[in-house]
Amino acid sequence: MQQSNRSADLIRDLYRQDTGYVFAKKPEEIAKEFGFAEVARLASNENPFGPSPRALKEAEKALCSMHRYPDTTHTNLISALRRYHGDYSFVTGVGMDGVIETCIRVLINPGDQVAISTPTFSFYGLAAAAQGGDVTHIPRNPDFSVDIPSFIASARKAKISFLCTPNNPSGTVTPVSDIEEILKNIDGILFLDNAYVEFSPVDYRDLMNRYDNLIIGRTMSKVFGLAGCRVGYAFVPDWFRPVYEKAATPFTLNTISAAAAVGALEDHEYIDRTIAYVKKWRDIFTKESGKTILPSGANFVMIDVTPLTGDQATDFFAQNGVLVRSCRSFPGLADHYIRVCIGEEWENNRFIEVFRRL
Ligand SMILES: *Cc1c(COP(=O)(O)O)cnc(C)c1O
Repeated sequence: MQQSNRSADLIRDLYRQDTGYVFAKKPEEIAKEFGFAEVARLASNENPFGPSPRALKEAEKALCSMHRYPDTTHTNLISALRRYHGDYSFVTGVGMDGVIETCIRVLINPGDQVAISTPTFSFYGLAAAAQGGDVTHIPRNPDFSVDIPSFIASARKAKISFLCTPNNPSGTVTPVSDIEEILKNIDGILFLDNAYVEFSPVDYRDLMNRYDNLIIGRTMSKVFGLAGCRVGYAFVPDWFRPVYEKAATPFTLNTISAAAAVGALEDHEYIDRTIAYVKKWRDIFTKESGKTILPSGANFVMIDVTPLTGDQATDFFAQNGVLVRSCRSFPGLADHYIRVCIGEEWENNRFIEVFRRL
């Protein structure tokens, strides 16, 4: 076949640049490189307990119908969400990432404004750019609280704005009153990313009853232990649900993952145990790291590793069999932070031991 200039001719500029989602290094690579039988996996904020037994059981049952297309309305999952949360409007997607992408597809034409409270999870910006959105980043205050007046000023011009609380990677929790202040002052949508909210003392759900410009994104990947299943959902205003369903890829969420999610939502013992365990270890990590750690409402902490850079500290941990996340790839964040999540007991203990030698 003739070698051509296809990549230059066909591919959008956006995807010819060296940008995109930055993944943590693979544990297998580190284990091999530095000679560890097992690496402590503390870079991806996963649930350390393995899957919920009830999720496994429901997924197993669902295997027998894998020759059928999924129920597009995911009636069982929506019912399970209602039992868990109460009577709200829900949409589902392939991870919360899938939900974010579909929300942007509903709202953003090329050139439309998107506002993002930064530094934060990078996917909002990537998904907005993919749709041709014009992204404005609104820097947080030095203590990582949201600069509410600046955020409102930009969000007033945007069709959709993103705010993550507890924030990834800082762990910062934004008070409900601040969110309400934002909602009162904007006409566009506020997408509140609550991926870690179960680990925090705040609850934003009641705002859904009072504002019709709020979407609350949730995920089954963290406290519910289903990161590999790719199930996300959101609380949406009633008016938004039908258009979301129109814009979504047909048959996104698969039957087996949806069934696993139903089981996970019913396993209160597993959920409570996870939350209690994370809080216990978050306190221990906080005591260990003193002033270098930021207060966190999530299942991870962000640690200031000055005078090292995030990459240098991450390399040191890797050499000692611990996988942590360098925060270098988070736009708008100074380059001296790492993010560490709560893992299994042995993983946490190894982290503390190596941290003392850092
Ligand atoms: C993990 C995470 C998500 C989404 O996770 P999915 O696995 O796609 O459901 C969304 N937002 C933040 C801030 C996250 O950390």
